[in-house]
Amino acid sequence: MTILGDDKEVRLRDAAFRYLDTLGHTKLVSQQDLASFVFEGESIRLMAPQQGIWKPRQLQAALSMRTVYAADPARRPYEDEIGPDRFLRYKWRGENPKQFENRALRLAMQRGLPLIWFQGIGPGLYLPSYPVYLAAEEPEAHQFVVAFDVESLALRRDLLEREPELVRAYAERVVQQRLHQRVFRERVLLAYESRCAICNLQHRELLDAAHVITDAAGGQPTVTNGIAMCKIHHAAYDADIFGIAPDYRIGVRADVLEESDGPTLRYALQAIDQSVIQLPRQRRARPDPTLLDIRWCKFHAGPRQKLNSEVVELTRSANSYLPKRLAVATFCTDTDGGETG
Ligand SMILES: [Zn+2]
Repeated sequence: MTILGDDKEVRLRDAAFRYLDTLGHTKLVSQQDLASFVFEGESIRLMAPQQGIWKPRQLQAALSMRTVYAADPARRPYEDEIGPDRFLRYKWRGENPKQFENRALRLAMQRGLPLIWFQGIGPGLYLPSYPVYLAAEEPEAHQFVVAFDVESLALRRDLLEREPELVRAYAERVVQQRLHQRVFRERVLLAYESRCAICNLQHRELLDAAHVITDAAGGQPTVTNGIAMCKIHHAAYDADIFGIAPDYRIGVRADVLEESDGPTLRYALQAIDQSVIQLPRQRRARPDPTLLDIRWCKFHAGPRQKLNSEVVELTRSANSYLPKRLAVATFCTDTDGGETG
């Protein structure tokens, strides 16, 4: 692997990364946002016009890859593209190894050149990840292995044979941070139009994507397991200061309702009791009531809703993949006595 310092391949990439930095490293970008990139007096396209691999005519090696968004908010993104080593895979164009875009990617891999991965988050909106590297090629599966940083690239190259578990664990963490968490946040904020579902705050920099079922408890990074919340409501939800029932109603913990303190307590916490969260316009992007119920039962506050048998059945199947300490929803429902839904 050789990288020449004064090489157009390297200089153009550096300039492209700096340009993306000016757009905001975590910001979603559209084709239009990318249109004003100029390198040495020439306007250069950074992303393929269609899904796929992009090699500008000024370069020999590919510069970027583009994937379209998963339209189904319940689908875990990139589920199928993670290999047994926990690195992501990127498919060739077609099945011909000599196809020019596949050759352009192979050249980037052989020369260790960094690339940009534009991940589709919503229609026409992309989350750029850069620099990413190609760690290997799997010709029989028509794909490349993608490394999200130089460390995982080096670890895979040097230790995959001797310490496969170590390499897997590292890759898992990097993919979690560089892909799943970022993609989860952006998809959830997009679904909620960048507003807190509890208080309607619209400052993007103060918003998070809260998990209904946490990562640690086996929650998936899907939009239906997420709710957009401002920092204070996210922290309060995670601390079980309030809960959200499967019918989207908020219940604030009884002892918090009885406290007296300044306006933050009154307006941000006590006043939200019994209100209903703001939901995404798109019905299928709304939080999954089964997951809300599991969390709501854990929260143990306020009257619980009596669920119909279909939801109970769904809950039972959800319980089969959740850790025992969370698998209480069906129990909650079964012992719920005379509550009405
Ligand atoms: Zn809020």
